[in-house]
Amino acid sequence: MNPWKVPLADVTLGPEEIAAVTEVLQSGWLSMGPRTQEFEERFATFLGIKHAFAVANCTAALHLAGEVVGLQTGDEVLCPALTFVATANAILYTGAQPVFVDINGPHDLNISPGDAAAKITPRTRALMVVHYAGYPCDMDSLVELAKQHNLKIIEDCAHAPGAVYQSAAGPQKAGTIGNIGCFSFFSNKNMTTGEGGMLVTNDDELAAKIKVARSHGMTTLTWDRHKGHSFSYDVIARGYNFRLDEIRAALGIVQLERLVAGNARRRELTLAYQEKLRELEQLELPFLRAPVGSTHHIFPVLLNKEINRFELMTALAQAGIQTSIHYPPVHRFTHYRHLLGENFDHRLPLTEDAAARELTLPLYPALSSTQLEIVTETIRNFLTSGRFHRI
Ligand SMILES: *Cc1c(COP(=O)(O)O)cnc(C)c1O
Repeated sequence: MNPWKVPLADVTLGPEEIAAVTEVLQSGWLSMGPRTQEFEERFATFLGIKHAFAVANCTAALHLAGEVVGLQTGDEVLCPALTFVATANAILYTGAQPVFVDINGPHDLNISPGDAAAKITPRTRALMVVHYAGYPCDMDSLVELAKQHNLKIIEDCAHAPGAVYQSAAGPQKAGTIGNIGCFSFFSNKNMTTGEGGMLVTNDDELAAKIKVARSHGMTTLTWDRHKGHSFSYDVIARGYNFRLDEIRAALGIVQLERLVAGNARRRELTLAYQEKLRELEQLELPFLRAPVGSTHHIFPVLLNKEINRFELMTALAQAGIQTSIHYPPVHRFTHYRHLLGENFDHRLPLTEDAAARELTLPLYPALSSTQLEIVTETIRNFLTSGRFHRI
């Protein structure tokens, strides 16, 4: 059981999930079969996209995406540093180098198209964008930039299943705008299969490559052979085992049914948080004027410089409230510092500023209004008590 009075995130699982998993176990077919196919078809329909491929996790999806768009050693890929490390790690797997791009500012923690443009070199091949907290990036500008410089776009949609971007051309779902969209079904995401991920694309050629590379580079699958469609196979590309299993696919089908209501509840809670916190002058609320369409994966706030984040997190923890930081920026991690060189000029002033001040408050569909009030009142008491030490 969860030790926190108000955990950072929580899953919504019911008898439907238990029934779906039990049914798979009774069927005796455990990996890459009818449920995986159904999950992929339903996910593709939900996004209004041609192809969807279920994989083991989003990190594998990002890796596969980079591989099939042709990234290789010596290439550069633009990506944010204010993201989960998997975004940048996936670029490294292909041999390419991540080039970190700054955010728009404290009001919008997404990648800045202007800074992306400034960091393009003759080696730049792709943009790996992240829709932070589920707020879509400025895709019109990024797509234009990609067109000008012949770059591929991979969308890391780990926070954004169902997010809608208001393009000048009309509404577009996150993940369907670039060449490939990648989704995560990890336990703390908006929909979960425990571990799991999905790649989506409208591009038939990329789809064919993904299908092969996901399963050892083989031309036929165990399921096809089981159905008697073929007796042997060839291996036509460097492949991986990035498959999803039937148990998780069955969970995914049920979780997809819950997604829209869950996202709507997250939005309600976000608006309630904003209402209660916006008057506190020691806080800045990013994405305050964000148009509808976010999936509200997390609720980030930025603390004014004089607030000691560690003391506030400790006070919240003592009240049974779990908080987190999204994110310690990737370019500051030891491995990346070594990789990029200690003297590498990051030129990420806005990322550094936001990362130093960011605090993530609890947000999940089952969070009650009472729990939310406990969080906001504990913060208010801390900030108005003057107990905190100025730094
Ligand atoms: C969770 C997450 C990932 C990785 O997803 P997994 O399914 O755990 O591999 C990648 N990018 C971002 C932004 C994430 O939040």
